[in-house]
Amino acid sequence: MPTLAERDYAVLWHPYTQMQTAPLPVPIVRGEGSWLIAEDGTRYLDGISSWWVNLHGHAHPHIAERVSEQLRTLEHVLFAGFTHPTAVELAEQLLALLPANQARVFYSDNGSTAVEVALKMVLQYFHNLGQPERRTFLCFQNSYHGDTFGAMAVSSRGAFTQPFWPLLFDVEFLDVPVPGQEQEVLSQLDALLARPDVAGFIFEPLVLGTAGMVMYTPEVLDELVRRCHQHGVLCIADEVMTGFGRTGPLFASELLPREQPDIMCFSKGLTGGTLAMGLTTCAAPIYAAFLSDDKMKALFHGHSYTANPVACAAALASLELTRAEACTQQRQRLAAAHAAFRQEIEGLPGIRQVRHQGTILAVEYDPGEGTSYFSRLRDAFYQLAIDNHVVLRPLGNVVYLLPPYCTTNEELELLYAVLRQMREL
Ligand code: PLP
Repeated sequence: MPTLAERDYAVLWHPYTQMQTAPLPVPIVRGEGSWLIAEDGTRYLDGISSWWVNLHGHAHPHIAERVSEQLRTLEHVLFAGFTHPTAVELAEQLLALLPANQARVFYSDNGSTAVEVALKMVLQYFHNLGQPERRTFLCFQNSYHGDTFGAMAVSSRGAFTQPFWPLLFDVEFLDVPVPGQEQEVLSQLDALLARPDVAGFIFEPLVLGTAGMVMYTPEVLDELVRRCHQHGVLCIADEVMTGFGRTGPLFASELLPREQPDIMCFSKGLTGGTLAMGLTTCAAPIYAAFLSDDKMKALFHGHSYTANPVACAAALASLELTRAEACTQQRQRLAAAHAAFRQEIEGLPGIRQVRHQGTILAVEYDPGEGTSYFSRLRDAFYQLAIDNHVVLRPLGNVVYLLPPYCTTNEELELLYAVLRQMREL
């Protein structure tokens, strides 16, 4: 009898996986709190919230209850010409929590589509206003906004997207304004803003996730956004990873001292990691530019599963948990534990830098002379974690923790223990 993993290997094609050389996938049959439980009963601690989506633990009973109730009431209805209570309720609740200028919610299916919608909003906003020459986007080097074509175009031109480069529209890249680089990046921005064709600036606020949890301050982001606004350039905060408490506050954009993004993108933690859903919100003047007697000024974008009621119910249930005082305390506890661990290992041999923002901790290891991150260290880190029954996905020589908020101090200690061992590799 073939095992589940062998049956998988015979018929499936996994994301970001070289199917010829990758080990067989680990068959997970159950989830419980921060743990994933394999077919053979082995328990794996989910140190990265299953690609940054899970907030409150796996198979959370409250979300499961709300989802099953919704499934029995209304599983789906098309969202053009129709609406339903959970879509309205979720939008009302989110707008009450988001930066005050956010006025409208547009639903989609995942983080990449949330970004596609944002890009299209910006381009059509200027088109509708009679300024179609404004069509250039600014973005950070090494940023990642998703795998669909528009999202790839505004992301780093890295090895993963190389086969598609000829079809990606041109954008202008800014360096990431990490500490010490702020003035340089502000000058780069000023030079670009002198051009008449700049339409939008898209950024991952405070933490560039896929780049290796690269962090920069809210103050410099605030200044970048302020200068964009002075030139009428629309600013898109891609909070797909940072949203719903990951960086401390509910949304990373809340930490900007003065400015607010014009458009925001969400997914991942939106449903607490239970169902695929994305959404894009925008400020009132953007929405207003689409209002007209002319039907062609409408936003012609939509997906079959737009505002799926079950996903909306999951998002409402997750939001309820996220807003509870208990969740705020969990996030504060995680942040304090990360800060203490950072103090412990910062400066030790083998550690190049430790970064920390809210519930996210990243350790950049010294790869040593002449070592290719991907050929040796990355796979060795991954294997060491799996051998210790911990799920981590190192980004080259950066290993990060981004655990579900319910992860206990004892469970965190298991994760830190693996990070300590990694110094020896
Ligand atoms: N934007 C950011 C900042 C992300 O981190 C990701 C995914 O990692 C995406 C967009 C794309 O989201 P999805 O994988 O749901 O398409």
